[in-house]
Amino acid sequence: MIKPKKSLGQNFLIDNNILNKIVNITKIENQNIFEIGPGTGNLTSLIKEKNPKKLYVIEKDNELVSVLNEKFKDSITIINEDILKFNEKKLTKDKLIVFGNLPYNISTEILCKWILNLDNKNFWFESLILMFQKEVADRILAKFNTSSYGRLSILANWKLDIVKICDINQNCFFPKPKVESSLLFFKPKLKFFKLKKAKNLEKITRIFFNHRRKMIKKPYNQIFNNNNEIKNKLKIDLNLRPQNLNLETYYKLTKEYEQLRG
Ligand code: SAH
Repeated sequence: MIKPKKSLGQNFLIDNNILNKIVNITKIENQNIFEIGPGTGNLTSLIKEKNPKKLYVIEKDNELVSVLNEKFKDSITIINEDILKFNEKKLTKDKLIVFGNLPYNISTEILCKWILNLDNKNFWFESLILMFQKEVADRILAKFNTSSYGRLSILANWKLDIVKICDINQNCFFPKPKVESSLLFFKPKLKFFKLKKAKNLEKITRIFFNHRRKMIKKPYNQIFNNNNEIKNKLKIDLNLRPQNLNLETYYKLTKEYEQLRG
């Protein structure tokens, strides 16, 4: 029996209804699948039963990799690496469908890494089906003028369409996590706001959301050197708080910033 490691965010999904639901969200047969953190392989087995063209899994825990090797032998490709350091684009030329009951301590880091490294064309994935803590999923999906709205919402909704499949109770996992979870489905947008560099959007949102409760006058002036033209053009009231600007406004602000910087 494997002792779950807290440090690696190990909460294994054990509820068969939920596991079955996950593998029926999208067509797996003859598709290339990439699973993040397969753990003991509960979800992996069900994915395999659906006859994917290829199934790649990445697991950091050496002990679990031995379990997976024993269980699946050569029928799947097991990568014993850290997803945060891994280059997904090198895995295959084919587009991947990504599944993951993500380790919650690094789930936002994983998602942000993917978002910030997406090309403008030819995304390396077809869709993402990912489990987050509910609180994180709420921030990803949040609309402006709400308290959950922030950098994560702005970054995630930039190039991706996102829908919530369902919330998942703590009892569906072992060991039982402290909080509820949510399953999200992400698909690349066909049309999205073009920016030169994702890093610039990251920077603008970081500076704006540095003080959530304060007016945006200070961060705006810090970024645009008291340049009033941009705020007039975008009709931005500097007495608002960062969560009062919608997604589009942040993308437009970033574009203005890029144009000023040449
Ligand atoms: N998908 C499994 C396990 C989910 S728990 C299930 O639902 O039962 C999260 C898994 O991610 C664990 O197996 C953990 O070892 C693995 N993991 C944690 N950090 C990782 C990292 N940086 N890279 C790859 N896998 C990681």
